[in-house]
Amino acid sequence: MGYAYDTTNIFARILRGEIPNKTVLETEHTLAFHDIAPQAPVHVLVIPKGPYVNFDHFANEASAEEIADFTRTAGQICRAMNIAPGDGDAGYRTISNAGDHGVQEVPHYHLHILGGRVLGRMLKRAD
Ligand code: 5GP
Repeated sequence: MGYAYDTTNIFARILRGEIPNKTVLETEHTLAFHDIAPQAPVHVLVIPKGPYVNFDHFANEASAEEIADFTRTAGQICRAMNIAPGDGDAGYRTISNAGDHGVQEVPHYHLHILGGRVLGRMLKRAD
């Protein structure tokens, strides 16, 4: 499966420092920052620094080091934002949209971490 990566997408521009972001955590392979249009009191986006289009691209083609770094960073964000239920907090949801059916807007893989309120049922049909 070959994905073409669009180097002009907004998250690529954030990674190049061309657009500012509110960083929550940065590691060697991963950047986490606040969503510009938050849909919950906590809405953080976690992205790999590598040029991956979506989840399956990243999961199948990134190195084990990148995947471990990304996953660990996302886990740290849940705790840093005080939403991890295991810490006595109220819980959260992670979402990753891909392609047309997933209604993905930005073609650079990202994990949404949402929390801070009851989020409702997982899916609601748009039509
Ligand atoms: P998608 O629909 O691709 O899963 O989600 C893209 C997300 O990126 C949306 O929640 C949107 O608000 C967020 N977003 C789009 N442009 C920017 C930006 O320039 N900065 C930040 N921080 N978030 C953005």
